[in-house]
Amino acid sequence: MSENKKAEKIVGVKGMNDMLPADAPLWELFENTVQTVLKSYGFQQIRTPIVEQTALFSRGIGEVTDIVEKEMYSFEDSMNGDKLTLRPECTAGVVRAAIEHNLTYEGPKRLWYVGPMFRHEKPQRGRYRQFHQVGAEALGFAGPDVDAELIMMCQRLWDDLGLQDVRLELNSIGDAEERNRHRVDLISYFEKHADLLDAEAKRRLHTNPLRILDTKNPAMQEMVKGAPSLLDYLGEESRAHFEGVQKILRHNNIPFTINPRLVRGLDYYNRTVFEWVTDQLGAQGTVCAGGRYDALIEIIGGKPTPACGFAMGIERLLELMKASGEQFAPNQCDVYVVHQGEQAQLQAFVAAERLRDAGLDVVLHCAAANGGGSFKAQMKRADASGAAYAVILGEDEVAAGLAAVKALRQAEGEGNQNSVPFEQLADYLVDQIIGEDDHDQHIHYH
Ligand code: ATP
Ligand code: MG
Repeated sequence: MSENKKAEKIVGVKGMNDMLPADAPLWELFENTVQTVLKSYGFQQIRTPIVEQTALFSRGIGEVTDIVEKEMYSFEDSMNGDKLTLRPECTAGVVRAAIEHNLTYEGPKRLWYVGPMFRHEKPQRGRYRQFHQVGAEALGFAGPDVDAELIMMCQRLWDDLGLQDVRLELNSIGDAEERNRHRVDLISYFEKHADLLDAEAKRRLHTNPLRILDTKNPAMQEMVKGAPSLLDYLGEESRAHFEGVQKILRHNNIPFTINPRLVRGLDYYNRTVFEWVTDQLGAQGTVCAGGRYDALIEIIGGKPTPACGFAMGIERLLELMKASGEQFAPNQCDVYVVHQGEQAQLQAFVAAERLRDAGLDVVLHCAAANGGGSFKAQMKRADASGAAYAVILGEDEVAAGLAAVKALRQAEGEGNQNSVPFEQLADYLVDQIIGEDDHDQHIHYH
């Protein structure tokens, strides 16, 4: 093929992004922080498949939602005709797995997940067709305490990630019966203002009028503001639950605003709903959304089990971390090992392994497709790797039982290259690089 013509380039799927190594320090920091914070609240990780039966989502998310109406990647398994869907969110899958494996048999369970989700949306900033979420699901908890705990866990995560411009909006959407009474009044209010409804709102008027409340159409905002508020329809229990959440948040100094028009896109929510929003990301400003979904587990075929959870959009949070101005310089390694000659190459392997044994990250120069094996070319690679030190092994060093060590991040001149006895190389470099610091704090985000 190479003799005739170059093969046509195959590019990625629209709206599905590569996460490139330059950003790796950022998402690794994000994922490590998430893992630490969620673990510190006793949440356990669960991983469910990316593909589920389509029925799980159409039933679990609700037929009259953006996701099920128009965003799902659904297909038939060509082998057996099964109707399958790439998961658009993970709550339904987690609940399915919890039922299937009896996870709440012995009591309530705190679970979390991270991974890719798929929605066929119009790609734009902060909105992609493959995107990633971290989510937590507290299954089998009935009271307002776990709702507040989930919210506080988010607050701790923002603090640990250094994010300051995220604020909490809170609402209660009551129970089914309360929503039904509200719904009747809401429909007649919208009917009175039918001339102001856009096509989507008209379509939703009798199927999902609550969703009209979170319309993004500016022409409808004023009218929507005057609509009957669900909060006025809450019964005693729903009101007590909502107040219970607020009381814990206030006691713990978590600021929030109550937004009566916050309804969430998914149908299975009841009572507490919340969103964390920022002004820094343009139109896609919601970084985390969650709430209570006491009905879902029964809908999916389990025993009635109250539950509460959230999902956060990782791409949006990473953008926010970048905007916070912190530098995430990617260092590939601590030490780059340069060598020249057959004996030196063998010795270089020994040196690299010993340095790794000592806890350092080491790149050993290997032959590249385009050559570049000269000493000068290797030193250039060492420099580009971001390593603090190059270890240099030539025939002379090997013969003398030495290794040359060059500090790459200091000004040229006296003392930035040393000869170290080969046997002492690891100790020497550990001292130089980790020094007095705690070993555990030795990470690559400087
Ligand atoms: P929207 O109303 O903006 O479409 P949603 O209600 O569909 O949001 P959820 O299903 O609640 O969003 O998802 C939780 C979070 O996941 C969102 O707040 C957002 O941060 C992120 N998210 C949702 N869809 C996308 C997407 N297509 N691309 C990137 N992130 C997304
Ligand atoms: Mg959406």
